[in-house]
Amino acid sequence: MSKLLQYLTDHHTDMLDDLGEFVSRESPSYDKERMDSFAEFLAGYANGLGAEVETIPIEERGNHLRIVWGDENAEKPVLILGHFDTVWPAGTLDAMPFRVEDGVARGPGVFDMKGGLVQGFWAMKALRELTGFDRPVVFFCNSDEEAHSYFSRDLIEAEARKARAALVLESSNGGRMTTSRKGVGVFEVEVTGRESHAGSNPFKGISTIDEMARLVLELHSHTNADTGTTVNVGTIEGGTVVNVVAGKARAKVNLRVMDEAEAERMSEVIRSVEPHHKEAAVEVRGGIVRPPMIRSEGVASLFGQARSIAAELGFELDETMSGGGSDGSFAASVETPTLDGMGAVGQGAHATHEQIKVDTMPQRATLVAHMIETI
Ligand SMILES: [Zn+2]
Repeated sequence: MSKLLQYLTDHHTDMLDDLGEFVSRESPSYDKERMDSFAEFLAGYANGLGAEVETIPIEERGNHLRIVWGDENAEKPVLILGHFDTVWPAGTLDAMPFRVEDGVARGPGVFDMKGGLVQGFWAMKALRELTGFDRPVVFFCNSDEEAHSYFSRDLIEAEARKARAALVLESSNGGRMTTSRKGVGVFEVEVTGRESHAGSNPFKGISTIDEMARLVLELHSHTNADTGTTVNVGTIEGGTVVNVVAGKARAKVNLRVMDEAEAERMSEVIRSVEPHHKEAAVEVRGGIVRPPMIRSEGVASLFGQARSIAAELGFELDETMSGGGSDGSFAASVETPTLDGMGAVGQGAHATHEQIKVDTMPQRATLVAHMIETI
C-alpha cells in the first residue's frame, strides 16, 4: 500500500472530524458575514498546515483565500481550486445537521464541496509530512462559486496562467473525474406591454404575461437532447393584480451548451427574441458566465495520469462530462491542463440528500496527493 494511503487511512477519523467542523460552519454565498468568518477559520486551518495565507478582500461577496506552500519563484506551482461557499442558507443545519451513519456523511455542502476541501488539505499534509515535498502549490479558495464566480473569475484565470496544471476539488459523481463541462449562460428577459382594466378595457392592454408565455415556449424549444443544448426558464414574474392586464414581466433563463460555437449561436438566439404583439418590447440582458470546459490534450493527459495512479492504488477511475458549471472551466479556458471532479465521492449536490461516502476519503486524498507529487 502507498505510504500516503496508509497515513491517510490511519487519519480517517481526523479527516471526518475536520469535515464535521467545516460543514458545521455555514457558508452561504451571499452572506458576507458568514463567508468572511469561514475564510478566517480556513486561513487559520491552512496556517496550521504550514501554508502562507493571503486574504483577498472582496466587498460584494465573501473574501477569497490564496494559500501557498513552497517557493513560487522556484518553478510553476500546481494550482488547486476549491470554493467554500454553499447553496444552503443559514439555518439549514437545524434541519440537516452534519452526521455520519451507514458509511455516508451528510450535511449542507458536505459533497459540494467541503469534503473535497478537507481531502485537498489532508493530501498536502500527508505529502509534506511523509515525503518532505516542498515544491510550490497554490490552493485558491474562492467564496462565490455558487454565485457564478463573478468576483473570482479573473483571479482564477490569472492563477491558472501561472500554474503547471490545475486540480479542481469539485465533487465527483459516482467517483468519476470530470474531463469536460458544458458552458453556462445566464440571461434576464424583460417584457414591457401596456396595463389596462381587465374588464372595462381588455383590448387596450398589451399583456406581458401572454407575451412571456409565448417566449418561454419559444426559448424552451431550443433544448436539444442530441446536441446537449438546454434552455431553462428558471423564474418568471410579472403582473400586479388579477383584474389588470399585465404591463411588465421578467424571466431568468439558464443556458447550457457543449462548445464555444454553440455558446455564441444560442446567446444570439436568446438576445434576439421578439415580441408577439408589435407594440410590446423585449429587452434581454446577460450572457455566457462560464465557458465550456473542453477535453483538450492537456486534460486527457492529466486524466491518464490520474487513472494510472488509481490503478496502482487498486481502484478503477472513469471520466465523465458534466452539465454543471465549475471554476475548472476558467482554468481550462486559459489552456492550463485541468482535471476536475477530484473531490469527494457521493451524490446529491444542491439537494437535501447531499452526501459523501466516507470510506473513499483517504483514497481520494491520496490520489490528489500523488497527482500533486507527479505533475
Ligand atoms: Zn461546487
